[in-house]
Amino acid sequence: MHVLQLPVKAYFGTNAVAQGEALLAKCGTKALLVTGRQSARLSGAQADVVAVLERLEIDYVVFNEIEENPSVETVKRAAVYGLEAGADFIIGIGGGSPLDASKAIAMIMRNPELVKTNIFGLKPMKALPVIAIPTTSGTGSEVTQYAVLTDHMDQTKKNLGQSIFPKAAFLDPKYTYSLSPNVTRQTAVDAFTHLAEGYLNKNANPLSDGLAIQGLKMLGKHLASLELDEFSEEVRSDLMYASMLAGMVIAHTGTSLPHGMGYALTYHHGLPHGVANGILFNAYLTHFKDQTRVKELLSALGLEDLNELNQHLKRLCPCDLSLSDAVLQSYADQMAQNEGKLKNHPEPMDAKTLYTIYRESIA
Ligand code: NAP
Ligand code: ZN
Repeated sequence: MHVLQLPVKAYFGTNAVAQGEALLAKCGTKALLVTGRQSARLSGAQADVVAVLERLEIDYVVFNEIEENPSVETVKRAAVYGLEAGADFIIGIGGGSPLDASKAIAMIMRNPELVKTNIFGLKPMKALPVIAIPTTSGTGSEVTQYAVLTDHMDQTKKNLGQSIFPKAAFLDPKYTYSLSPNVTRQTAVDAFTHLAEGYLNKNANPLSDGLAIQGLKMLGKHLASLELDEFSEEVRSDLMYASMLAGMVIAHTGTSLPHGMGYALTYHHGLPHGVANGILFNAYLTHFKDQTRVKELLSALGLEDLNELNQHLKRLCPCDLSLSDAVLQSYADQMAQNEGKLKNHPEPMDAKTLYTIYRESIA
């Protein structure tokens, strides 16, 4: 039995927000727009949303303080703001940070007692409706059920552990035209890692594999453009499409080791999410036992071997982080306890190999 549940209604293409007007009309009576400091406005997405809301005479308020790798404290603050304003649905606009935050805010607003308690590890909770509008091409959060938050109590990033799929996603590639070359590359690497971790995954099945291979082919076509800052409309569109496919893959399979291992590099050393995963990838694939599956993945990207992929990754996410053996050992020990990620990895794994992957990846 192969099951693939993709419950998000995804509108992909130019003017996606306006195309979704009828759906927006049925979401609620007052929207909380959840954004980062600048990108929602810079990208033009916020103006498109506001135009539709005003046409529909739907009231709205804006919370624009979501930081990168959003913290539990910030999402609680946004939820209190939304509750006080009387909002009854959420529109997240931005990269993965505002989109993930939107899902957590939607859960807290639907269950206001959570403002004062631990929001991780709870039984399944209901949430207000969420509309997701990505302005990066990387996380696929617009089609996934995950919300990754920074938990300063535990000094790491964690998935909320709920299943909060957006009701709809509006993907308009033009919202990514304002992205810097660096963020474009880092987020493309994130999408690649989702496709690869989803393909090399215990939960993979022929349906998720089909999506992963299609996404890898689309990304592979544009590796040179990514490295040369050649971001045509076709490139922007394909990157957004591949990122959405990658989100659909991990919505089914989950991510695995590089994502789990990368969280420590982001939390303690500030590496952007895509870079934190990307720098681990060559060693991760080298230690992957089923090299037939690795070769299939490389071939979908249009690459000959692992060395060729490694050269691309070095250009796409250069990184000069240097860490001691003791620090890397502590991260490996921590990862060896991360059952949520380990269970998705289809081969035996131990702390020693995890340490070796870190050591081979970081100077
Ligand atoms: P991000 O943290 O949302 O944004 C990174 C930076 O890019 C921010 O400074 C942001 O500005 C800026 N930016 C975004 N869109 C822009 C645009 N169109 N033009 C100019 N600047 C723009 O980056 P992200 O890589 O998309 O998201 C990373 C987060 O997603 C991490 O917390 C990661 O753990 C999570 N994630 C979630 C999933 C999932 O399935 N839910 C999967 C992978 C990763 P502003 O601050 O102004 O917005
Ligand atoms: Zn990711």
